[in-house]
This record gives sequence, structure tokens and C-alpha cells, in this order.
Amino acid sequence: MAISFSFTEEQEDIRRAAKEFAEKEFTHELALECDRNEKYPMELVKKCAKLGFHAVAIPEEYGGGGYTPIEQMIVMEEFSAVNPGLALACLTPIFGVEILLLHGSEEQKEKWIPKLCEGKAIMGMANTEPDAGSDSASIKTRAKLDGDEWVINGTKQFITNGSIADFILVTARTREVEDWKKRHKGISYFIVETDREGYKATKIVGKLGIRASDTAEISLNNVRVPKENLVGEEGKGFYYMMEFFDISRVWVAAQAVGIAKGALKLAADYVKQRKAFGVPLATFQYIQFRLAELATKIEAARTLTYRAAAIQVETGKPDSMLSSMAKWYAGEVAVETCDWALQFHGGYGYIDEYPINQFYRDAKITEIYEGAKEIEKLIVARHILGVK
Ligand SMILES: Cc1cc2nc3c(=O)[nH]c(=O)nc-3n(C[C@H](O)[C@H](O)[C@H](O)COP(=O)(O)OP(=O)(O)OC[C@H]3O[C@@H](n4cnc5c(N)ncnc54)[C@H](O)[C@@H]3O)c2cc1C
Repeated sequence: MAISFSFTEEQEDIRRAAKEFAEKEFTHELALECDRNEKYPMELVKKCAKLGFHAVAIPEEYGGGGYTPIEQMIVMEEFSAVNPGLALACLTPIFGVEILLLHGSEEQKEKWIPKLCEGKAIMGMANTEPDAGSDSASIKTRAKLDGDEWVINGTKQFITNGSIADFILVTARTREVEDWKKRHKGISYFIVETDREGYKATKIVGKLGIRASDTAEISLNNVRVPKENLVGEEGKGFYYMMEFFDISRVWVAAQAVGIAKGALKLAADYVKQRKAFGVPLATFQYIQFRLAELATKIEAARTLTYRAAAIQVETGKPDSMLSSMAKWYAGEVAVETCDWALQFHGGYGYIDEYPINQFYRDAKITEIYEGAKEIEKLIVARHILGVK
């Protein structure tokens, strides 16, 4: 049987539509304003949601596009190639929704997912804490059952949409474990509506990149949620989180591929018009070779990324090793491409008026969130060595 490496006509239509939307709406002025002022582009996000770009892969029964993760990644790639910060703000109002889709009760899904699809609600997911990031099983947040309510206490760090969301999926320890090695057991997910008493979000300012995206520290001080806000089974949260990362890492890989693609285009456009020593920079073979090398790496990252997604779609299950490989490699290629693209802009690249400046800063996050690149490599190595 032949292997297909081409996208379908429908996928190409989605790509075209996403590219057109981004090129029209992600204006230079808006990108600069949101980047400089760390402003969340609420109007743009709502406009984007009206067209359903953020909910392409959500089942139709909940108001989504009913496509697969591949089509959502195509949107992510095209948006990120135009402006990574605005792209992220537009596509993350549903960040974490896979956990609800896979493990939420029918009531929870019906209550929230249609609103998310319509752009009438924003969600987030809070795992990371001040002292627990890569080691996400070491969380200190606790949830204790008191009658018909769970009482949650703790602090969450770096939470996307933390200060603008309507609800956040929060991990908390519901059962103590004596053996530290078993700390991944006894963690659960809760829906925490952000208007509950005791929920406080403090927007984090001063981020290096993706400054249009909202990031907050969240404190949960005796926040009471009804029993029904537990998502899935009590004590299974860590497994849900790992399953989610296997899915979300291919989104980040697609984001990184888009960033690299966009940066390469900025570099190619620039070296064609900028002259030095009497000729366009593009005339220098050194620069041509570098562009060729980067383009090849981007294509390799892209193939790996969509292969990871295709396997997930075909088998109905993410491939943990491929997702990790894709995210690590595509992130590295994005950072490397942006570095060279800025280099070719010379001093102008150092100024934020030039879009490559934002790309350079935005790219770095792909090597940090959804698992730092070292965690990705650990996962790959564990698969190679057969270690659990
Ligand atoms: C802008 C932004 C948005 C984010 N959004 C969210 C969100 O919505 N929800 C959420 O829960 N979290 C979010 N995060 C948190 C992010 O996932 C964590 O920052 C990331 O997992 C790393 O955790 P940490 O920062 O605690 O770093 P640490 O765990 O302290 O690690 C620091 C560094 O040490 C190295 N390292 C760690 N462990 C190992 C190891 N075993 N072997 C080798 N090297 C290692 C890595 O280089 C790593 O970068 C966000 C972060 C940022 C910056």
C-alpha cells in the first residue's frame, strides 16, 4: 500500500483559509501593539472564534468543525507563520479541552464545549506550580472533600489564559502517598470556575515572547467546587495529563514548524532586497547554503510532525515517542531558523519594528512549555531503552 505525503484538497482549502485570515487580520500594527504592551487581542480572538478556526478538531456534536488534529495543526502552522503571538492567543481559548472530551462527564461537556466553540468562553489548564514544572507529579495543591464539595488550596504558575478564562482545569492532590516514587498517584483534575471565591489570578508581565498570550499565576485559597466538578476518575489526573501532553506536543510541533517557516520567509525576503558590498545579500553563497540547510531541516521537522499526527489519527491514540520527537526537533529547528533569520537582518533584526525580532523571541517557548526539550529527549530515550 502506498504512503501518502500530500494533503487532501479539503486540507489545502483549510490551509488557504487560515493563511488568508492571518495575513489579513494579524496586522503589523496589532502584532506590535500586543507585543509591546503585552495586550491580549480579545477582539481578534472573538473574530477568529466566529469562523471556528480554534475549534476545527472538536466534534460537530459540541459545535466544533468535526475535523481531525491534522486540520487543526494546519491552522496552527499557517497562523504561526504570520505571527506566533497572535496565533497562540487565537488558538488557545480551548487549551486543555481534550481532557474534557476524553474524560469529562456528558454534563460537563455539554455545559462548556459548545460555549468554547462559539467563542463565548475561554478555558485554561493548570498543572505547573512554583516548585513543580517538569516534575509535574510533585504538585503541592491539595483538594479535600468536605460534604458535597471539594476544597482546593494551592498556587499554579505560568497558566495560559489564567487571568481571562471562564474556567480552568486544575490538578490537585486528592490522596496522599507515602512512597515518593509513587507521587504520580492520587492526583485529580477539577473544573474551577474563575468567579469562585478564593480564585485569584495575577497576570505575569515581562515575558520574553508570545506576549499577546495571557499568562498568569493563580492562587487558590479555599476554593470550593461541587463534587460534580471532578473530571473523570479521582486519582487518575496524572495519567490524563500525560495522555494530554502526547496530544498537545504535536500542536506545539506544528506551532514551531509555522514559526520556522515564517522566519525563513522573512529572511529570504530580506536578503533579496538588502545590499552589501554592492550586491544583494542573497548573492552570497554562504547565505544561500544556510537558507537551503534551514529549509531542509524545516521540511524534516514538518514531516515528523505530521507523521506523529497522522499516526494518532489512524490509530486513535497518540504515539508518545513520535510526539516527543516532533516537539523537540521542531522546537530546535524553529529556534535555529529564527536565530539565522535575525542574523541576516543585521542590526535591523535587533529592533522590534522588524517582525523577525518577535519571531526570534516567540520561538523559544516551543523548547520550554508542554515539556522542556530535555523531557522530550528523556521520553524518547525511555522508549529506546524500554524503561518505564
Ligand atoms: C509562557 C508560558 C506558558 C505556559 N503555560 C502553561 C499552562 O497553561 N499550564 C501549565 O500547567 N503550565 C504552563 N507553563 C509551564 C511550563 O509547562 C513549564 O515552565 C515547563 O514545563 C518547565 O517547568 P519549569 O518552568 O518548572 O522548569 P523546571 O522543571 O524547573 O526545569 C528547568 C529546566 O531544567 C531542565 N530540566 C528539568 N528536568 C530535567 C531532567 N529531568 N533532565 C534534564 N534537564 C532537566 C530543563 O532544561 C528545564 O527547562 C507555561 C510556561 C510558560 C513560560
